[in-house]
Amino acid sequence: MNIKKRFTLYNIIMLITPILLIGVISVCFLIIFILKYPVEELNITRASMLDLEVFSQALGEFFKNNPSVLCYVILWMVICVLLIVISTTVTTRIMTESVKKPINDLAKAAEYIRAGNLDFEVLGSDYSEIDNLCVSFDAMRRDLKHSKQREDYMKQERSMLLANLSHDLKTPITSIKGYIDGIRDGVADTSEKMDRYLDTVYAKAEIIDDMVNNLSMFSKLELSRLTFQFDKGDINAFLRDFIEDYRLDLEKNEIKLVSDISKERAIVKLDYEKMSRVFANLIDNAVKYRNENNPVLEISSLIRDGGVYVCISDNGIGIDESEMENVFNGFYRVDSSRSIKGSGLGLGIVKQIVEKHGGKIWLESGGLEKGTTAVVYLPISQ
Ligand code: ADP
Repeated sequence: MNIKKRFTLYNIIMLITPILLIGVISVCFLIIFILKYPVEELNITRASMLDLEVFSQALGEFFKNNPSVLCYVILWMVICVLLIVISTTVTTRIMTESVKKPINDLAKAAEYIRAGNLDFEVLGSDYSEIDNLCVSFDAMRRDLKHSKQREDYMKQERSMLLANLSHDLKTPITSIKGYIDGIRDGVADTSEKMDRYLDTVYAKAEIIDDMVNNLSMFSKLELSRLTFQFDKGDINAFLRDFIEDYRLDLEKNEIKLVSDISKERAIVKLDYEKMSRVFANLIDNAVKYRNENNPVLEISSLIRDGGVYVCISDNGIGIDESEMENVFNGFYRVDSSRSIKGSGLGLGIVKQIVEKHGGKIWLESGGLEKGTTAVVYLPISQ
């Protein structure tokens, strides 16, 4: 019931209760009066009742002769006033309590939330307006609890990945130091050995460079400090060149590459360097999380809905439906892929770059071991 209806009902109760009680009391008094004092004693005729002066004179005389009747009348009046006061007080109290309780509960709930306690439930109310407020409040509490849990999880995840990252950085650094010590100590005593040592040092330095680049790009994107140089370009032509650059690498890894890039021109807003990073990260993931037996990587594009859909599909380890959104958060890694090296930053970087291009990215997967498709949508520029 809404507040207006409920308050109208209380007002009716407040009005009817004393009327009924006064009626009952009056009837009782009347019966006592009639039994004790025959009406004739009143000495009032029908005619005199119409004349106020005569009537009040007769009444005054009657009260003078029967002083106890006056006491009864006064008692009746006092009881009537008491009944009105009691019924008004009781109804008003019930009415205010019924409103105060849910409001107090909400105030208590707000206090709990302020203190960081989110493990309670805001109960509903009989008033539909307050009930709606309680429902929204409880939904807000649940959302807050959910984001707090997420935040705690992310914090934990972040610290764990930072620890992993420092470990991952330390490994190539230790190995670089080892090789340099070897060179210094004259272990690389032939030119082939020296070349091998230097190549290894260079490769390790490149690993460190990649990691630091990822970290730096991710934090710049998070802080909106990365500048973009937008041009207009044909994304299909860009993809064809890009795939050619990757073909050798993929063949070396024995990954079958299937490409089906649309022949049509699709002009989109393009920062070439950043977009290369997007597809490099997506292809790297498809390679990292590939199917070990018969790895296949498919890259295709399709012009539709005023934009271009670029799909990068693999037949690898797949992703569970519940993780599809989480993987775009920085430092997030799915449990099933923890044995494979990674920083959990790649997709976070990709998402932010694609969104800066006005596009969208999402993952699709049939589930674990069923492969993954990353879909990038970029709107066509006029
Ligand atoms: P990284 O690969 O360095 O861990 P990403 O941000 O690129 O970080 O990916 C986040 C997580 O998403 C990965 O740890 C992995 O669990 C999952 N993931 C990304 N791409 C794929 C893919 N193609 N197949 C299966 N899982 C993937």
